[in-house]
Amino acid sequence: MVDPEGFIKVPQRDAPLRAPDERIGDWHEVYAPQPAAERARDVAEQASRCMDCGVPFCHSDSAGCPLGNLIPEWNDLVSRHQWSAAADRLHSTNNFPEFTGRLCPAPCESACVLAIDERSGGSVTIKRIEREIADAAWEADAVPPRPARVQTGRTVAVVGSGPAGLAAAQQLTRAGHQVTVFERDDRLGGLMRYGIPEFKLDRAVLGRRLDQMHAEGTRFRTGCEVGVDPTAAQLRSGFDAVVLAVGALRARDDAVPGRDLVGVHLAMDYLVRSNRECEGDGPTAVSAQGKHVVIIGGGDTGADCLGTAHRQGAASVTQLDYHREPPAARDEALTPWPSWPLVLRITPAHAEGGTRRFEVAVRGFVGDAVGRVRSVAVARVAVTRTRSGRSRIVYVGGDLELPCGLALLAIGFEGVERGPLLDDCGLRLNSRGALSCGPDWQTGASGVFVCGDAHRGASLVVWAIAEGRSAARAVDVYLTGHSDLPAPVHPM
Ligand code: SF4
Repeated sequence: MVDPEGFIKVPQRDAPLRAPDERIGDWHEVYAPQPAAERARDVAEQASRCMDCGVPFCHSDSAGCPLGNLIPEWNDLVSRHQWSAAADRLHSTNNFPEFTGRLCPAPCESACVLAIDERSGGSVTIKRIEREIADAAWEADAVPPRPARVQTGRTVAVVGSGPAGLAAAQQLTRAGHQVTVFERDDRLGGLMRYGIPEFKLDRAVLGRRLDQMHAEGTRFRTGCEVGVDPTAAQLRSGFDAVVLAVGALRARDDAVPGRDLVGVHLAMDYLVRSNRECEGDGPTAVSAQGKHVVIIGGGDTGADCLGTAHRQGAASVTQLDYHREPPAARDEALTPWPSWPLVLRITPAHAEGGTRRFEVAVRGFVGDAVGRVRSVAVARVAVTRTRSGRSRIVYVGGDLELPCGLALLAIGFEGVERGPLLDDCGLRLNSRGALSCGPDWQTGASGVFVCGDAHRGASLVVWAIAEGRSAARAVDVYLTGHSDLPAPVHPM
């Protein structure tokens, strides 16, 4: 039974992490190993902090978990050491809790009632509990393949093997359709393979889930540039439905002076090369080793660069909040992102070293005689408020020049990459750089559906899975006239 005073008796404890000096010496996940019995007891105690709220904001899709994860239910089960039942409840709403338990910034925790008042001791550590339930189930060999009992004879092509594509593929395979996932890269996983560093997601965790999907009957084809080979016409004629889960990989760039100097890179280009080295593809051509690294951008991609640069042996790492130029010159009101220090987002990578600078704007990159970046020219800015309450950024003087041998632009994504696949389907990007769809997730092209970042814009792994699950239901209805699959979210 729920103890309504559990959060008073048990202090919040998140997962223990290895010491920063130790973890920057390897690429293993940041978590400290714990003896199994101690870990189970610790997590059960943390789950006992949940009050089983009458209105559990943690799993509302407006503020909490878009998957509608049954958080109070599995908290209760874990608090009573019913791990197997907790894993069943968790998997009933989430195909891949081992991914969200590692990668999601946990809007559920921000929405938790215990997060509202700091006297409550902080939110239930939902993300940690989710990861531990999922890992315990895998360690107990209790996540078997669940192939469909009946085949429908219908076929679906899923384009993209990131979390949205994989979620849609698993749901549709389990509903009895023959699903083929097409992936452009040479390995499966999308951003989870080449965008996310291994210290956040061990590739064995990804691999065991892919093995399960193989065993359930999902087919995979890697190295396919869909739109070229196969063409869009071949895909549409060869399959009864197509799901576009191609992500929003077009990186935002910035044409500040010096952008074309050697040593100035898009963050995702840097991360992909580094992650390929970890996969055994040979040394990266863009290493931080021995260099002064400046990361422009304060979001999660910037934090991934931060942790990666330290593991590569950077001489120093500085992360800048990004503003292209002193905005006073443009007299423009901007909303700063990431948040200013009062509501600063901190990841484990930030405990590993480096310097964060806020209220700065990049003026440009300065090169040496042979065209390599030598420093970053930075202007100091400040935030003021307009009468209407909007933030306005003004130049305050006192510019800096930061030494730099590797500059990484981590300033977001602009949307879906254009190409023959979209052109030949007659699809255009909307003002957000994304693909629009109707209430049934179908694009303007008949039988072609969309989900994940390709529809929502660059977002959280949990939203990708939620959209993949929801689009799968729509495809199931399209193919069979009905569906028992869940649809946790609706199109934007
Ligand atoms: Fe438990 Fe927090 Fe959800 Fe309430 S909001 S049910 S305390 S996890």
